[in-house]
Amino acid sequence: MELEIRLSLPAWIADEVGDPGRAYPTIESRMELALRLAGRNVAEGTGGPFGAGVFDRETGRLIAPGVNVVVPSTCSVAHAEIMAIAGAQQARGVFDLGSPAGTATELISSAEPCIQCFGAIWWSGVTRVVTGARRQDVETISGFSEGPLPEDWPKLLARRPPLPAVEVLRDCLRSRAADVLRRYRDGGGRIYNPGAG
Ligand SMILES: [Zn+2]
Repeated sequence: MELEIRLSLPAWIADEVGDPGRAYPTIESRMELALRLAGRNVAEGTGGPFGAGVFDRETGRLIAPGVNVVVPSTCSVAHAEIMAIAGAQQARGVFDLGSPAGTATELISSAEPCIQCFGAIWWSGVTRVVTGARRQDVETISGFSEGPLPEDWPKLLARRPPLPAVEVLRDCLRSRAADVLRRYRDGGGRIYNPGAG
């Protein structure tokens, strides 16, 4: 019986992130970091082709990065978005990133969320989500299934009283995000939909 559950990001993350105090003034600059993380995760062979980060919306500073570490962590929930959200909550010492004590936060992700990460975003407390590759890019290029994500998932987040709205911006650097998925596929990266072996 496990009494403690541990998830770790690859050691190279600190090197790729560099100066932790650096500000990323635009959503494109934040997405560029998420894409660099996704690309390096592919190049290093440390997980799937997905990168993410939770940022402070006011200062533009990175609170926590994330990459997909499902295979090395032997953990099906260890998607990039989950790692970034969990890391940000640990860094801030809150389970709700929208709690009044903190400044507003946003999740930047190299791809649209799967059904699991949609749920995780719902409960996270972030007030904005920015995505790169579309679900169609993920499914046609990489072969990953996003599960039965509702077609209108951005609307569901944008209007959900009594909970605070979560703004959704899609297609940020979409073609470059899709390129990362292609590199993973072309490099023979492992596809691990459940039950598919
Ligand atoms: Zn996911």
